[in-house]
Amino acid sequence: MTSGKGEVVLLMGPPGAGKGTQADRLAAARGLTKLSTGDMLRDHVKRGTELGVKAKALMDEGVLVPDEIIIGMVKAELDQQQPVRALLDGFPRTTGQAAALDELLAGYGSQIDAAVELVVDEEELVRRLLSRAQQEGRSDDNEETIRTRFRVYRDQTAPLLDYYRERGKLASVSGVGSLDEVFERVQHALDQERR
Ligand code: AMP
Repeated sequence: MTSGKGEVVLLMGPPGAGKGTQADRLAAARGLTKLSTGDMLRDHVKRGTELGVKAKALMDEGVLVPDEIIIGMVKAELDQQQPVRALLDGFPRTTGQAAALDELLAGYGSQIDAAVELVVDEEELVRRLLSRAQQEGRSDDNEETIRTRFRVYRDQTAPLLDYYRERGKLASVSGVGSLDEVFERVQHALDQERR
């Protein structure tokens, strides 16, 4: 449990699992601030900042942006929140980011309450990402980049599931079904975790 009225929840899962959509709803329902590192990076790209220019090439390739950039961005946001009430979407993605997050939160007298993994099989993920490509036109939703993003997820991010599982923080729920169904499952999992 976090001290005071803090709450820190991580939403994890492969590209296309529905993290962004669920994160919006969960943040609203639980009174948390949604922090999506992907959204923050896309905002930098749109504004043409130095960070955005650097990040765009990596994002288009489907590989990760260096840890120090990401950690600096998240720290700047968390520094403004006391107590920390955050729903983290797409962060942490490496063991280095996970360790940095633990350290940052400890510095605020806070800690992670729960990590929720959305589980969706790969065939369904590819279908969703290609359909999102048509609807939203995200430049990293093409077939080659999608393949790279899955590989990066498997190699660099999936090991974090064990990190949180070993600490008794991980809840895995199926990400297949309607928005409402998945939302209910996640809320239920979080309520179990908080007991
Ligand atoms: P997302 O919207 O979370 O799927 O992120 C889109 C892209 O932004 C990823 O493929 C990465 O290139 C970059 N990105 C987002 N979050 C992170 C992170 N925590 N660490 C490194 N790169 C990230």
